[in-house]
Amino acid sequence: MKIIMLGAPGAGKGTQAKRIAEKYAIPHISTGDIFRANIKNNTELGQKAKTYMDKGELVPDELVVDLIMDRFKEADCANGYVLDGFPRTIPQAEALDKALSANNESVDFAINVEVPDENIINRMSGRRACVGCGATYHIQFNPTKVEGICDACGEKLILRDDDKPETVKNRLSVYHDQTQPLIDYYSKKGILAEVDGTQSMEDVFNSIVNVLGK
Ligand code: AMP
Repeated sequence: MKIIMLGAPGAGKGTQAKRIAEKYAIPHISTGDIFRANIKNNTELGQKAKTYMDKGELVPDELVVDLIMDRFKEADCANGYVLDGFPRTIPQAEALDKALSANNESVDFAINVEVPDENIINRMSGRRACVGCGATYHIQFNPTKVEGICDACGEKLILRDDDKPETVKNRLSVYHDQTQPLIDYYSKKGILAEVDGTQSMEDVFNSIVNVLGK
């Protein structure tokens, strides 16, 4: 099963993507996580991506498309995947379709986790990320057992540069300009499912499972 998660930054698609990956036994592929791992390891790709990410801008399509095509070659992608943060532009979606159709494959579902902008700004300022393993939490909606400390690895939590309010506003405007058109793109293909992202995390997940099947 090949699934795409759509939605504004902070809509909760990452959290849902992880649960989908677990339930359907497919890998969760987050281009944002891949970039952050590269930044942490100070790779050339990481250095290039950081200049865009810190400003809330998108990394250029060629960089992202090459990276994701390499990731698809790994063995764990044989039964599909859930993509979180890719595609983010029409050219990226077209590149994905082209690569899949060369193997007679296609995307099965595009799930749009819908959350109004007002809610997003509040949510993002409460988001915290682990400096060690990258796990994300929310001080209100998904708190750690001990404040400021990662449940998974015990490292410190921080507010990521790209989750700071000024950057969030820019990310939202980039989202509306460049990523929102994908909703129409997948709707025309007949594979779009809309889910109300303002529900509890559990209810959002149940709505998604209703779409994907048990
Ligand atoms: P995310 O964790 O998905 O919100 O991604 C964090 C940042 O990584 C974004 O604000 C972009 O700068 C960059 N990024 C992640 N995925 C993509 C993509 N598919 N295309 C362009 N930039 C991306």
